[in-house]
Amino acid sequence: MDEQRRLSYLARMGVHAWQPRTDEHDGAAASPLEMPPAVPPQAPPATLEPARPRPAPRAPEPPPVPMPPPCAPSSSEPAPFTERTVAPRAPAPEPPADDLFAPAASAAVPAVATMDWEQLARAVHGCRGCALHETRQHSVFGSGARNARLMLIGEAPGADEDRQGEPFVGRAGQLLTRMLAAIGLAREEVFIANVLKCRPPGNRDPHPEEMARCEGYLQRQIALIEPTLILSLGRISAQHLLNTDVSVGRLRGRWFEVGDARIPLRVTYHPAYLLRSPAQKAKSWEDLSAVARRLRETERK
Ligand code: SF4
Repeated sequence: MDEQRRLSYLARMGVHAWQPRTDEHDGAAASPLEMPPAVPPQAPPATLEPARPRPAPRAPEPPPVPMPPPCAPSSSEPAPFTERTVAPRAPAPEPPADDLFAPAASAAVPAVATMDWEQLARAVHGCRGCALHETRQHSVFGSGARNARLMLIGEAPGADEDRQGEPFVGRAGQLLTRMLAAIGLAREEVFIANVLKCRPPGNRDPHPEEMARCEGYLQRQIALIEPTLILSLGRISAQHLLNTDVSVGRLRGRWFEVGDARIPLRVTYHPAYLLRSPAQKAKSWEDLSAVARRLRETERK
């Protein structure tokens, strides 16, 4: 291969052979493969990164918060309702100066707690102790034997009772008469009263302050009768007499004792409720049977 062709191949391969200048001549030609000194690749310019901030030294950990001791049972939780336990009633509101329940101002107007039957009946019929006197037709004192061994206490007069001035008339009253007959008692043998002596408008529930105002009449009736047993009829009566908010369903089926005389008391459903829920009549029959049994037992003693 002649020299020109060889140099051409090398050139295409990117190898440029040194060629002696024609004007240079020192008598000895250089090797054609002698490469110019390779330029060392330049290192990329060093870039200066901004200095990373040093992590701040950790603040010392706060001391651990001591855990509170386990909670004691809250004193606001209601105490379990135990048999034969009747919580003390909250004091009644302060009566006005001319109130019948206040200590007697004169011999002509005795205090309710000292009234006899006639005085008590007159006081109830003329009572204006709460706003219910404005809407009543009749106050309903109660009816039955004044020496009854069994006293029945309901809630308040309804429309029929308000019209006639007698307790437990109408359909609920007729059912009560049949219930008593089933245990061998006539209405005339027992005394029937209500917590409230006047009808709440629209048959609404009695207000606590109304029951508190009327309380003295019922207590005086109980004191005068001195019954052997009390049968409480319905939720309002039971919760008022036992000073609790426990349901009738949980109160029935056991005996309680009420008042200073510790009179045994049984709870059952109100006859008006039984008219709406006849399936509960069997439970009411159990309650009445327990009352009848106890009356027989106390008779023998
Ligand atoms: S409900 Fe009782 S306190 Fe109220 S007016 Fe009638 S009898 Fe008096």
